[in-house]
Amino acid sequence: MGEGYQEKLRRLAELLLSANYPMALTGAGISTESGIPDFRSPGTGLWEKIDPFKELSRSALMRNPARFYEIGLPRFRQIRSAEPNPAHLVLAELEAHGYLKGIVTQNIDGLHIKAGSKNVFEVHGHLRTCSCMRCGKEDSFDFLVDLVESGVNPPLCRFCQEGVLRPNVVLFHDPMPRAFYDAAETLQYCDFLMVIGSSLQVYPVAYLPARVEKLAIINISPTPYDSKALVVIREKAGKVFSDLWEVLRQKGKV
Ligand SMILES: [Zn+2]
Repeated sequence: MGEGYQEKLRRLAELLLSANYPMALTGAGISTESGIPDFRSPGTGLWEKIDPFKELSRSALMRNPARFYEIGLPRFRQIRSAEPNPAHLVLAELEAHGYLKGIVTQNIDGLHIKAGSKNVFEVHGHLRTCSCMRCGKEDSFDFLVDLVESGVNPPLCRFCQEGVLRPNVVLFHDPMPRAFYDAAETLQYCDFLMVIGSSLQVYPVAYLPARVEKLAIINISPTPYDSKALVVIREKAGKVFSDLWEVLRQKGKV
């Protein structure tokens, strides 16, 4: 991969424009420019002093739900208040122009939806809703936040009045949600996948690119799929997608 950045961008544009069923797979790296730290990197700010895999796991929630929300709520609020960056916005525009069929994301921040993307598979869940661990009924995440902030912790379901509410995100030890299986099924049609901001270390999501014929990787650090990829760009996603948009504009495609 000795070629320069501009050449790689042009190839990325060509692969995207010539694909029959182009899709994107995004991970934490696409949202760091929106102020959400990658939990797998050494923690910063709010995430510095906790181990989310331990303290925000399913077993932590079962053992001590009040403690789970004491630790989790400020962090969930930080994630929920984030705004899309140019990478999310360009991906939404690509879909609107017919150049992208869908996005599979490992992120729970909902930023693809906020950016206007329509066909989004949130395979680790999201923070728009919560559900009761007893009766299974769903509620808005705002309802949960209001309860905890008004001192009702653990937050209880308003339907059965007994069950503790949990965020609809995949916690450590949780099974994968329906969206994951839907994503895997849709990827069977995908002939070109852009992996963006994911180091592809987290399974089972990391298996998904294996089925796709052509790959492009846009990630700061190496991934296990780099040698299979037709284009590898080690840059921040916001820059790459702003620049890709400019290439497409010059080609008269957008
Ligand atoms: Zn309930």
